[in-house]
Amino acid sequence: MTSRDRPSPNHGPRPGAGTVDMLILHYTGMRSAADALDRLCDPAAQVSAHYLVEEDGTVWRLVAEERRAWHAGLACWAGRRDINDASIGIELVNPGHEFGYRAFPEPQMAALERLCLDILRRHPIPPRHVLGHSDVAPRRKLDPGELFDWPRIARAGIGLWPEPRAESASAAGLSELQAQLAAIGYEVPRSRSLDADTAAVIAAFQRHFRPARCDGAPDAETARRIAEVAAVFARFDSGRLPTT
Ligand SMILES: [Zn+2]
Repeated sequence: MTSRDRPSPNHGPRPGAGTVDMLILHYTGMRSAADALDRLCDPAAQVSAHYLVEEDGTVWRLVAEERRAWHAGLACWAGRRDINDASIGIELVNPGHEFGYRAFPEPQMAALERLCLDILRRHPIPPRHVLGHSDVAPRRKLDPGELFDWPRIARAGIGLWPEPRAESASAAGLSELQAQLAAIGYEVPRSRSLDADTAAVIAAFQRHFRPARCDGAPDAETARRIAEVAAVFARFDSGRLPTT
């Protein structure tokens, strides 16, 4: 696939062997693609990503994959806080919730799909490690948000999208929901109550897996969906395909 180069100075060495095993998707949350490119390349901003995908499908390469880009910030997944160390970050141009959040157009999604498939061929990234910024930073981030088409990219072989089944497990208590969210990978308190951190994690889960309602409330449908996703993620241990 073809991409254009717009080198960002905001990167560093990856530690250790430099293995990449996570893919994090973002939106830019700025008024225009030009504004976002300027910011991601501004040394004063101290932020970057490996790629930026415009709404017309143009792909910009900002940081080489073997370098550590600065896109995730304070984050955590499955107990790991080294998200930038081991991930590739892709920014999707979109004004975001602040400036007029809108659907990701077809040319942008098609280009993203090609880019992700390319990346997955080059790095040992398990399906359960294809995530949104809000998944790994639920208290701070909303991107790429509830309009992002996770089912579509999963059909292309990128990440996991368990199909919702009405007959799956019934509603669990908060203690069980917190355990299931932690098993998926979210950093969630084990408080057995709906504290602010838990509500933020539930909202992040909804944004990814149950986008019709992202209010952080553990209603019966959300609880069912959490159990369903936790069960499928458990079968994808280390990214191997489920055997059943
Ligand atoms: Zn982000």
